[in-house]
Amino acid sequence: MEIGLDIMDEEINNSPILIVDDDAALLQALPQVVDLRMKNVQVETTDSAQHALERVKEFDFDAIISDIKMPGMDGIELLSHIRELRPDTPVLLITGHGDHGLAIQAIRGGAYDYILKPIDRDAFVNALQRAIQTRQLRRKVTEQQLALSLHARSLERLVEKRTSELVTANATKDKFLDIVSQELKSPLSNLKGMTQLMLHQLERGDATAAVHQALVDMERSITRTEVLVQDLLDTSLMETNLFVLHRERYNLVDLCRELLDAYTTRAVLSLNCELLGDPIVVEIDKDRFSQVLINLLSNARKFSKKGSPITITLQQSGYEVIVSVQDTGIGIPEEYLPNIFEQFFRVPDVKIQSGNRPGLGLGLFIARKIVERHGGHIEVQTVLGQGSVFSVVLPVYVDPTVINQSDPPPSLHTQAVWTITH
Ligand code: ADP
Repeated sequence: MEIGLDIMDEEINNSPILIVDDDAALLQALPQVVDLRMKNVQVETTDSAQHALERVKEFDFDAIISDIKMPGMDGIELLSHIRELRPDTPVLLITGHGDHGLAIQAIRGGAYDYILKPIDRDAFVNALQRAIQTRQLRRKVTEQQLALSLHARSLERLVEKRTSELVTANATKDKFLDIVSQELKSPLSNLKGMTQLMLHQLERGDATAAVHQALVDMERSITRTEVLVQDLLDTSLMETNLFVLHRERYNLVDLCRELLDAYTTRAVLSLNCELLGDPIVVEIDKDRFSQVLINLLSNARKFSKKGSPITITLQQSGYEVIVSVQDTGIGIPEEYLPNIFEQFFRVPDVKIQSGNRPGLGLGLFIARKIVERHGGHIEVQTVLGQGSVFSVVLPVYVDPTVINQSDPPPSLHTQAVWTITH
């Protein structure tokens, strides 16, 4: 109730009202009373209920005052039309002194109040003021209801959005559990089988050769499990933003040579250096960069025939360095290009061409996150059946004390090219 009273105390602002009366003297006197005693009320008058109805159809008055007794359509009939057209508009009916029957009829017909003739100015102004304030209050309530329902709708939409995000997150989690359990099952059951075989051989006393083979297989299974667990750990670090880079300044030409030497020695592959140019300085996390390069190399090997070349090129263009890994393998169908950097995505029915088993579909996801954290990005170009080029684009380190703003940025030039035959 207090809220209502507060609003009732407020000033009326810009309130249009309509007075309907066939009595010319009253039609002149009442607007004068309003003008003199009420602020911000604009009065319109008419001497016919029919014309009043036309105006009510066109315009939303804050209050309507009408005489009851008028020739043609009377005040009671006008009231019933107004109730239909504008149920929120308060109508005050003027009735003759002692005409209680009409006053009761007016109230039953939905009039806001009635005013007795001869008209008492105070009573008239009070009744009109209450009517206008009631109308303005109703309007505010309607506006607030509208604002509330809009707010409720936007909340609903937010809940729908969050729910769908949760559903997606849940589906990703289910997929994650499904893939992890499948992928871990195979190396673990290998380990179990090998252990049982070794025990059996040991019991029979002729263990040496079989134990050696079993240990080799076990090591392979353990390495695979380690890779899977590391991929999962990295993914979870990226997701939770706990991923920290330890950046240092390197000459990328030297660093790539060192990483490629180590990689090809480990995998017993031949490495051929075709060109070595000027240094390119970058500020990167060496281990994480190495992880990206190894992932691209291992994909290039997995998805191209044994014996085919993999070319690693280092180029500088402006203040960016581009490290690209090119294979002549199976390529990637164009429709899957938008997906290959997503978690757990593998091109359906993709066939491994050489080397390793398929991964969890996390390698490119992790690689992209690492490169993005360095302020760079990864691009891919591919032709189905002919091969793919994955290009890591990173910012070159620029020493602010040495750089001359007026020098044009370096144009595209190749700094190093290596070929691996696998
Ligand atoms: P995975 O660890 O399973 O290889 P990645 O995230 O590294 O996952 O790669 C996702 C998928 O993208 C691969 O399963 C493969 O289908 C496709 N892909 C990646 N690199 C190549 C490539 N060089 N040639 C052809 N397909 C590739």
